Amino acid sequence: MLPYIPYGKQDIQQEDIDAVINVLKSDWITQGPTISRFEQTVAEYCGAKYAVAVSNATAALHISCLAAGLGSEDILWTSPITFVASANCGRYCGAQVDFIDIDPATYNLSIAALAEKLAIAEKANKPPKVVVPVHLAGQSCEMAAIAELAERYKFTILEDASHAIGACYNGKKVGNCEFSDMAVFSFHPVKIVTTGEGGMILTNRKDIYDKLIRLRTHGITRDKSVMQGESHGPWYYQQLELGYNYRITDIQAALGVSQMQRLDAFIARRRRLAAQYNHLLKELPLTLPAQHPDTNSSWHLYIIRVDEAASGKSHREVFEALRAASIGVNLHYIPVHTQPYYQQLGFQMGDYPQAESYYQEAISIPLFYGLTDADQQRIAETLKTILSGAKIDSTK
Ligand SMILES: *Cc1c(COP(=O)(O)O)cnc(C)c1O
Repeated sequence: MLPYIPYGKQDIQQEDIDAVINVLKSDWITQGPTISRFEQTVAEYCGAKYAVAVSNATAALHISCLAAGLGSEDILWTSPITFVASANCGRYCGAQVDFIDIDPATYNLSIAALAEKLAIAEKANKPPKVVVPVHLAGQSCEMAAIAELAERYKFTILEDASHAIGACYNGKKVGNCEFSDMAVFSFHPVKIVTTGEGGMILTNRKDIYDKLIRLRTHGITRDKSVMQGESHGPWYYQQLELGYNYRITDIQAALGVSQMQRLDAFIARRRRLAAQYNHLLKELPLTLPAQHPDTNSSWHLYIIRVDEAASGKSHREVFEALRAASIGVNLHYIPVHTQPYYQQLGFQMGDYPQAESYYQEAISIPLFYGLTDADQQRIAETLKTILSGAKIDSTK
């Protein structure tokens, strides 16, 4: 059996381990100075004013929706081709969730579909309060166009940038929030930078920042200027609203600061691997990932689409043959509206045809910083063999 190649994997070096050990030996293992260092490091890297680190990106999306004022009378829109968390965050707030079909080239939410749906929603007097563009695979959505629509239809833009730390849009870093109110990163180990579990919200809005800081820690403040009445003394704090314990630890933040030092190297390698895949796979009956000219992806994922008519192989056959050859392919994502939970809310098969046809064809092949050129060659050769119909020998 050939060694197993996962689709994604973290890169941990001695310097990461040392950074974590230093925090463990210090006075603060949570709610200490390393969290602010991590926040500053990411905010500076992206060019955003404020950053709030939390326990994971799902928590980040949740309190971002709350900071946007999303409630049970409101509506959140997102893409059906995303991890369920991009939609669930709306449900946590009691809001209604709806979807916008994807662009068949980029797989991000379609600007035309968004514009069309907004016009209809305006007439029906049911506009979304929050729209969550998801930068699938690390390729930014067309943010300038979304911001123009937000201006006209008055919704909050919350970028789910879980895949996109290090990516660029119009030559500037994703997360700078030039075209949005907030952007969220995930630091799960399969993502580009990891803290084990972790997430962060970036924003340029002080009002939102203040709210997020409270919401991540029970809705509690120690700031006298926002308290009701007088402080009782140095021990005093007030809970102003219902918040959560969504804090990250200094142990995790130390790993994050250390990982951030290598972010540019991570992205450079991912871009190189993507370019090599483009070259290695170009003759095969596959659709390779198309890139919008305004974007420069962080390449969290490399997604191919199997052309069943051209290859004579079904999507499932190709997927299973890759797994059988010890290549840890995956599928990002099952359209969220087809999940039983969302079906029970009234969504149906056929609601988002582009998303559903994408799901019939998409495969994420391995892409991560530590993937070697030799492993990549093996993946390309295996695909070539599978698509040419020859039997592959998985014993050698
Ligand atoms: C990973 C991911 C999330 C959730 O991230 P966690 O940190 O695991 O909570 C949300 N949205 C997208 C698009 C993701 O890929």
